[in-house]
Amino acid sequence: MFRITLGTFIVIWVSSFGLASDDTVQKLYEAEAENLETLYRQFHSQPELSGTEVLTAKRLSNALKNAGCQVHEGIGGHGVVGVLKNGKGKTIMVRADMDALPLVEKTGLSYASKEQARDANGNLVGIMHACGHDINITCLSGVASIIGKIKDQWQGTILFVGQPAEETGRGARAMINDGLFTKFPKPDLALALHCDGRFPAGHVNYRAGPMQANVDSVDIIVKGKGGHGAFPDKAIDPIVIAARVVRDLQLIISRERDPLDPAVVTVGSIHGGSKHNIIPAEVKLELTVRTVRTSTRVKILASIDQVARAAALGAGAPEPVVRVNAMEHIPELINDERLTQTTVRVFENLLGRDKVHERPMSLGGEDFSQFVRAGVPGFYYFLGSADPKAVDVARRGGKPLAVTHSDSYFPEYAPVIKTGVRTMVAALLFHLRDN
Ligand SMILES: [Zn+2]
Ligand SMILES: [Zn+2]
Repeated sequence: MFRITLGTFIVIWVSSFGLASDDTVQKLYEAEAENLETLYRQFHSQPELSGTEVLTAKRLSNALKNAGCQVHEGIGGHGVVGVLKNGKGKTIMVRADMDALPLVEKTGLSYASKEQARDANGNLVGIMHACGHDINITCLSGVASIIGKIKDQWQGTILFVGQPAEETGRGARAMINDGLFTKFPKPDLALALHCDGRFPAGHVNYRAGPMQANVDSVDIIVKGKGGHGAFPDKAIDPIVIAARVVRDLQLIISRERDPLDPAVVTVGSIHGGSKHNIIPAEVKLELTVRTVRTSTRVKILASIDQVARAAALGAGAPEPVVRVNAMEHIPELINDERLTQTTVRVFENLLGRDKVHERPMSLGGEDFSQFVRAGVPGFYYFLGSADPKAVDVARRGGKPLAVTHSDSYFPEYAPVIKTGVRTMVAALLFHLRDN
């Protein structure tokens, strides 16, 4: 007897909608590929730091206008919202982040960035799209352009969102606070893609449920009493206290945390002193803290405070300042289970099951989670961005792959943009017919 299971039903249902128009999408894509690749190289060679995405926003805004969107600029800083309306139906938000990182690019590419800027501390730094956000916004432009040409195949409203300042964890919150969900229709669901330098181009990976970690930035100012380096007994040396703090922070992870509950405490910056023979009055530490469970987050933040105070007390030093930077908190990213399942089926039909992979949870952070926290079910997935041959070499123990946030990272942009556009268009067509 033939029995149709729910799974079979979803596959047939998805196939009948998802695949029918991919030929059309691919033809439209081929006609746009050259323009999109040029746009990508422009984004790549002129990156801008978080919160300063003026030129990037302008370029994205023009691309969205050309695609037929009604475009609003300056939302939450340099945020861009392109609205594409097509009758009654759901509202779906597609988000791409726009900012780059303070790194001197060392890829040697002909279109490499040579840009420089002053960072928040006044230091001259290089600027590089080392997180692949140039791919994300190029895909957003391509998706808008193609979906705008096949309006007979879907119904509803799409919000194309160019988000600033993802790398500082501030941009999504700023857009929400500036009325993203009140000035515009609140989306029924939100989608986003991002590069993954460890997977080959043409592949995608995802995870249902918790996917990325809680991120907290903590500043510690260790206080001492300044003096001459030759007379430490007349001073209280904050460098020695800071060293003790750095060591004791490691014990939080190894001795206090449940070993089955992932968490990280990293001291990413330590600054104190000006000369060999001067004991400074204070040392500044900057930490990133990654947790999965909220209860663990609360416990670890309390332990950090305790460690800093105990080290100061033990040295007879003044109380340290321990500050959790609320503006930089990023909540954990949770992909909606049902939305993930249905969209992954669309991807499997489109690319083949061998190109769609489930990934483990990561302790990376992603402020797309702010949109989810604001009540919009979300699905965030990764595009493999490496040369497949380089992936094989690395897997056999050869030259390691350059991953995102490295000064040597670059995506194999042509197939990555194509996969990004095809998958996102297919997801939109599926969900905007699913009324
Ligand atoms: Zn990044
Ligand atoms: Zn990123």
